[in-house]
Amino acid sequence: MLRLWKSEAVASFDFQAFNAGEYNRAVDDKVLSETLSKVLYPNDETEVGKRLRLCQQYFFVSCSLQDMIFFHLSYGRAIKDLSETFAIQINDTHPSIGIAELMRLLVDEHKLEWDEAWGITNKCFAYTNHTLLSEALEKWPLTLFSSVLPRIIEIIYEINRRFLDKAWSHFPGDDARIARLSLIDETGDKYVRMANLACVGSHAVNGVAALHTELLKKTVLHDFHELFPDKFHNVTNGVTPRRWVALSNPGLTELISSKLGDDWLSNLETELSGLQPLATNSAFQRKWLKVKQANKEALAGVIRERTGIEVDPASLFDVQVKRIHEYKRQHLNVLHIITLYNRIKHDPRADITPRTFIFGGKAAPGYYMAKLIIKLINSVAEVVNNDTDVAGRLKVVFFPDFNVTNGQLIYPAADLSEQISVAGKEASGTGNMKLSFNGALTIGTLDGANIEIREEVGEENFFLFGLNAAEAADIKSRSYNPRSWYEGNSQLQEAIDQIASGTFSNGDWDLFRPLVDNLLNRDEYLLLADYQSYIECQDRVSAAYGNRKNWAEMSILNVARMGKFSSDRSIREYCEKIWKAQPV
Ligand SMILES: *Cc1c(COP(=O)(O)O)cnc(C)c1O
Repeated sequence: MLRLWKSEAVASFDFQAFNAGEYNRAVDDKVLSETLSKVLYPNDETEVGKRLRLCQQYFFVSCSLQDMIFFHLSYGRAIKDLSETFAIQINDTHPSIGIAELMRLLVDEHKLEWDEAWGITNKCFAYTNHTLLSEALEKWPLTLFSSVLPRIIEIIYEINRRFLDKAWSHFPGDDARIARLSLIDETGDKYVRMANLACVGSHAVNGVAALHTELLKKTVLHDFHELFPDKFHNVTNGVTPRRWVALSNPGLTELISSKLGDDWLSNLETELSGLQPLATNSAFQRKWLKVKQANKEALAGVIRERTGIEVDPASLFDVQVKRIHEYKRQHLNVLHIITLYNRIKHDPRADITPRTFIFGGKAAPGYYMAKLIIKLINSVAEVVNNDTDVAGRLKVVFFPDFNVTNGQLIYPAADLSEQISVAGKEASGTGNMKLSFNGALTIGTLDGANIEIREEVGEENFFLFGLNAAEAADIKSRSYNPRSWYEGNSQLQEAIDQIASGTFSNGDWDLFRPLVDNLLNRDEYLLLADYQSYIECQDRVSAAYGNRKNWAEMSILNVARMGKFSSDRSIREYCEKIWKAQPV
C-alpha cells in the first residue's frame, strides 16, 4: 500500500475578506497550505525555502504515522504492539523527525508513559544512511526548528537529556565526545542534528555497501558505533531486474530467456550464472552484440530527435548518467575527452577508437559548480562535435532531462559504464548495477558497490583505476598540492589551460575560471591525482573494445555474475537483519 499525501486548506475561501474586496487575501490561506505538497524537496537555499521544506518533512511524516496508528488500532491491536504491525525504515535523514513525532503521538495523544513510548518508537524505527559527505548530513537551525515545531523541539530536548545521561555513564568525563553525540550542535550557531536523532531513535542503522558501512563506523558515525556496536549492519543496495532488465531491455531479456527459461527474472542469484558457459560461444556472442547494437541504434535515434546530434551506433558508447556532483567527477571524464581531442589535433591521422560520450543528470538548483560542469560538457561538445579534424570520431552528447524513463533507454545502450567517483565518497551507487546488468563494462574506482561488483564479475572483466579510499584519505591528510600534479603532466596541463583560456568558450577566459581555480588550488575530489591512471585505463578500454569477440565474452560474464545485485537479495537482507520478518 502506497500513501501519497496532499495538503489542502480547511477552508478554501475567506468569504469576509472577499466581500471586503480583498480578493487576493480571500484565497491566501488556501494557496499557502497547498504550497506544502506542491513540490517534493523544495529548494532550501532561501530562508523561506528552508521553512517550507521542514514543514513538508513534518507534514508527510505526521500523516503517515497517524495513518499507521489508525490502521493498527482498527485491527483491534494494542498501541504497545505497534512494531508488530509496522516497521518504519528511515530513508536517509529526511523523515527522521518521525522519531520525535511518534513520541509526541504516543505521549501527548495516546497518553503513554515516556519509557513505554520510547520502547515502542525504538522498536519501530530503523535508519538507512545514504551519504558519507558530511555537508549532506541534515542540520536544522535551532531557531527555525523551534519556531515551526515548538512541541517537537521540547521532545527532542528530552530525548537528548536522557540519551546524554547514558552516554556520559559510558564515556565519563569525555566532554568532546558528548558534544559530538548531542542531538544539538552547539559549536557555533545552534542546529538540530537529524542523523544523530536517527541513530539514537532507531534499533538498527545500516550503510548501503560494504565499504560505505565500514567508513560510516570509522568516520561520520564513529561515536555512535562505539556506543551501539550491535545496531550497525550492512545491506548492499540492489536494483530490480523487472524494471532494469525486463522492461528496459526486452531484446536482452528474450535472448537470456531463450537459454535459461523464464525463471531467472525472479531467481537471479541462482539462475543468472547459467549464462557463464555461453560466454565463449561464438553464435551466442554474435546474438549478444546484435542486441546491444539494436539498443544503440534506438538511442541514437532519440539523441538525434532531442539534441540534433548525429552519433555513430558503431562507436563505443561511453555513458555517465547520474546526478551532477563534483565527487562523481563528470569533469574528469571531460578531461579525458579533451585529451583525446588533443591527440587528434596534434596528429589528425592518430589511431583513435571512435567514441560517443553520453552524459545525463541534473544539478541541485543552488549548486553553482555543478551547473558549471553541465555548461562545460555542452561547451566541449560544441567544439569537438563540429571540428573537421575530428571527422565524427568523437561525439559528445548531454542528454537533457535525465530521469528514470530516459534511463530505461540509455542504460541498455551503453558499452562502457563510468563509475569514477573519488574513492570513499560514493555510498553505493545503483547506476553501476543497472549498467552492468545491461552488459556494459565498468571503468571505475574502488568506491561504493563498485568494489563488490568487481569481486563478483572478476578483476579481469573490470577496468580499475585510481586511488583507493585509504590512499585518497592519506594524500589529503598530507597537504595535497594539485598544482604540482598539473605541472608534472603536460597533457593534463594542456587540457586545463585550454579550459581556462577559452578554447571551449569562444575565447572567454572568465566562464570556467571558478572551475579551473578550484581544480588548481583545492581539488577536493583529487581529479588531478587520478588523471594519469584514468587516461591509461581508458586506453586499455579502447584496445579491448577493438577485439569484439573478447569484449562480448567480458560483457556476457559481467551479466552472468551480477545476480547478487538484484533488489530481491537486498530486500531479503532487510527482512532478515533489520525487520526480523519471516517469508510468507
Ligand atoms: C539509478 C539512477 C540514479 C542513480 O545513479 P548513480 O549512478 O548510482 O548515481 C540516478 N538517477 C536516476 C534517474 C536513476 O535511474
